Amino acid sequence: MRSTHTVFHYILTIVWTFLKGLLDSLLWTVVGLIGLYLFYSSGSPYNILIGLPLLIIGLGVIVNSLGSDLLSVFSPKFNQGICPLCKN
Ligand SMILES: [Zn+2]
Repeated sequence: MRSTHTVFHYILTIVWTFLKGLLDSLLWTVVGLIGLYLFYSSGSPYNILIGLPLLIIGLGVIVNSLGSDLLSVFSPKFNQGICPLCKN
């Protein structure tokens, strides 16, 4: 069944994307902080090998989810594309 993407959908998708992004961001902020801790804690060079990628991935996910938030607000097409109610 194909439903039309109404204003209600639009707002719900923004809230949905925001909450999902917030959750992801929180999760990856923790991962990033662990990476930062490993990176700065003195010790073996393996700390940098593990810490730096974690930090970069964490920042990447946070920036990406922020981008999704903005896109869902300003791009109706993107909004409809990720609408949880329009998906079958
Ligand atoms: Zn929709």
